[in-house]
Amino acid sequence: MHINASIHRLARWFEAARQVVVLTGAGMSAESGIPTFRDGADSLWSRFSPQDLATARAYRRDKALVWGWYTWRMAVVRAVQPHAGHRALSELAGLKQGLSIVTQNVDDLHERAGSNDVIHLHGSLFASRCLACGKPSADTDVPPLAAQQPALRLMPPRCAHCGGDIRPGVVWFDESLPEAAWHEACELATQCDLLITIGSSGLVLPAANLPAMAGQHGAKVVEINPARTPLTDQADLSLQGTAGDVLGQLLAMVKA
Ligand code: NAD
Ligand code: ZN
Repeated sequence: MHINASIHRLARWFEAARQVVVLTGAGMSAESGIPTFRDGADSLWSRFSPQDLATARAYRRDKALVWGWYTWRMAVVRAVQPHAGHRALSELAGLKQGLSIVTQNVDDLHERAGSNDVIHLHGSLFASRCLACGKPSADTDVPPLAAQQPALRLMPPRCAHCGGDIRPGVVWFDESLPEAAWHEACELATQCDLLITIGSSGLVLPAANLPAMAGQHGAKVVEINPARTPLTDQADLSLQGTAGDVLGQLLAMVKA
């Protein structure tokens, strides 16, 4: 099917749905200039191994390396803006009561585009907390991007309450998801009638199970991704385009 016909079909499904879940992954933020983990030479993982950086073990082994890397990632996010796709999604949510955004992203671009109550399955870059006592740390000082190297080494700040090390507020690969967020995402996936997954490779579990969960409970499952993923052949509709393009066109069709 031609992409325009597919977006048209999605627009009809969107209008008919009572409950819509939009699940976003790293590809949702790619057009803002935040590299994804897996695709292409520009991806973070092609330069650093996740095992070296995004695990609790790695942090315990080399705090300065890991904190330095997260400080750089915070600076990258602070230096970019939400794109037209983030804004279109926020506008679509205004047109459809019962639209929920569930994200694997640790940036704040949905919020900065005006979306509220976003469910963050993998935490947030900007919710650092104490490794020892768990208390949130005050706003972490992020040096400007220009002053940084990706491989900058930086010791984490100390907790104001107990002196423990401050750790990033993200979920690491060897950790489980925040229980409340995961529970809510499962409830939404099993109750919705349309799930749209955008910019996710469909490889990071358990988030990658949500589309199948929705499908098994009768929802239509739609994928938006310029590349093929393990979900592509299982989805009811697959739109091979970028988040910015497809969401912009979807919004225009829903408003027409
Ligand atoms: P991933 O990096 O595994 O896959 C990204 C997907 O996005 C790919 O399938 C790619 O084809 C697609 N993509 C690339 N450009 C796109 C575009 N313009 N529009 C739509 N899709 C596009 O991402 P994932 O599945 O989210 O898993 C990676 C993990 O890494 C997540 O858990 C996430 O927490 C973390 N991560 C987060 C960020 C962020 O917060 N912005 C960035 C990188 C990684
Ligand atoms: Zn503490």
